[in-house]
Amino acid sequence: MDFEVTVIGAGTAGVVAAIQSARAGARTLLVEKNALPGGTTTSAEVAFPGLFHAWGKQVIAGIGWELVSQCVRETGQSLPDFETPGRPHYSYQVRIDPFVYGPLCCEALSLAGCKLLFHTMIANAEQDSDFWNIQLCTKTGLKTIKTAVLIDCTGDANAAAMAGAELRRVDNPQPATLMCQASGYDFDGLDIETINRNFEIEVRAGNLSYTDASWNTEAANVGTWLSKHGQNANHLKAANAQTSEGRTALELRAQKSLLRLCRFLKTQKGLEGLRLDHVARETGVRETVTVIGEECITADDYVSGRLWKNAVCNAFYPIDLHGDQGSGLDCRQLQEGTVPSVPLGALIPRGCQNLIVGGRCISSDRLANSALRVQATCMATGQVAGALGALSASTNADPWKVDLNSLRRLLTDHGAIVPDWPA
Ligand SMILES: Cc1cc2nc3c(=O)[nH]c(=O)nc-3n(C[C@H](O)[C@H](O)[C@H](O)COP(=O)(O)OP(=O)(O)OC[C@H]3O[C@@H](n4cnc5c(N)ncnc54)[C@H](O)[C@@H]3O)c2cc1C
Repeated sequence: MDFEVTVIGAGTAGVVAAIQSARAGARTLLVEKNALPGGTTTSAEVAFPGLFHAWGKQVIAGIGWELVSQCVRETGQSLPDFETPGRPHYSYQVRIDPFVYGPLCCEALSLAGCKLLFHTMIANAEQDSDFWNIQLCTKTGLKTIKTAVLIDCTGDANAAAMAGAELRRVDNPQPATLMCQASGYDFDGLDIETINRNFEIEVRAGNLSYTDASWNTEAANVGTWLSKHGQNANHLKAANAQTSEGRTALELRAQKSLLRLCRFLKTQKGLEGLRLDHVARETGVRETVTVIGEECITADDYVSGRLWKNAVCNAFYPIDLHGDQGSGLDCRQLQEGTVPSVPLGALIPRGCQNLIVGGRCISSDRLANSALRVQATCMATGQVAGALGALSASTNADPWKVDLNSLRRLLTDHGAIVPDWPA
């Protein structure tokens, strides 16, 4: 066997999964298609992980929290005041520097002893008796490795699909967003009303789209884009972003949208000097597919704060479904005191052996997933996936059959919070 655990996707969840697996003593390989770890947190520059705290108390900790708080310390930034509840949920997210977070992940992965393979994608997964033959597409050709356990942290269930998992697809996925950082203007000196009026004329002429500059689908709202300097301020149709073809079409739409917006903005008074200091390396995708797992978290489970009998971590965020109507966001807060949990079976693709998922594509219905997809929860499920993989490999038990008390012990030994199970 080349590896006991192989994690595909070194993103928000995958980094944590691989560190946990390696720290638990498993020979671990982490495969990533990009040039650095962090995924949506670094490559798409969605660098405000939420939510580790709920109602004034920490509900998610462990390796994700360790990396995030180390990043805050190293950059001299400060953590939000978590102890005072009652502010908008997004004010409890932790602002981190994505340019520091990536290197910190590299350091932690190396220290844990993970073998890393960047610029590599999974090409196929075939099960032999008690191991996987994983075909990888490297820069110099296809290469096959053997691994006992396969963990999918691609966000898109690419590896799980190749390994035979059934997927839950949606017709019209949530829009994606291309992050950028614009400068070269004084926001307070701008005549936003006139800019919006001019923008509206261009939308009506078919030269621009409302969502080039906002989430709103029915009115010009360029002021928000300008005040946020382009951060998390547009919406892009994200059909089939699970595939290379769909993803390419999305990236082209995103670049085109940004280019036409900047061309328009530079014609407006006070924006002649507008420039892009940087643009995220890839477009941030909110939704593609989820796996059909041994258990599925429904919106009812989520909003009622169901405590599963095999809960492996907490989750916390409002239902947060982006769409292509009206304001572009359906946000529903949880009732005070509610903290949803994640059952083991949401990480286990139904009927599959030695296969685990972590991150955005865990088994959940659409509304529940709109909340479960956030980064703190992805990191928590990533840590569970890594611990489960390592335990499964060391005990020769399928991940679905791993002893839950041993899993709890391993996770809590590594700083994670595992909810108390109901009696
Ligand atoms: C615009 C936007 C705003 C958001 N806002 C927030 C917010 O405010 N707070 C919050 O907490 N969350 C937010 N989220 C959600 C959150 O960022 C993501 O859902 C989460 O980061 C997904 O984590 P993941 O590990 O599942 O996937 P990712 O972080 O995307 O990681 C997947 C990794 O797998 C790699 N990969 C993919 N396919 C393959 C393959 N076939 N072979 C090899 N490698 C592969 C990718 O390159 C990537 O590194 C937002 C998301 C977006 C897009």
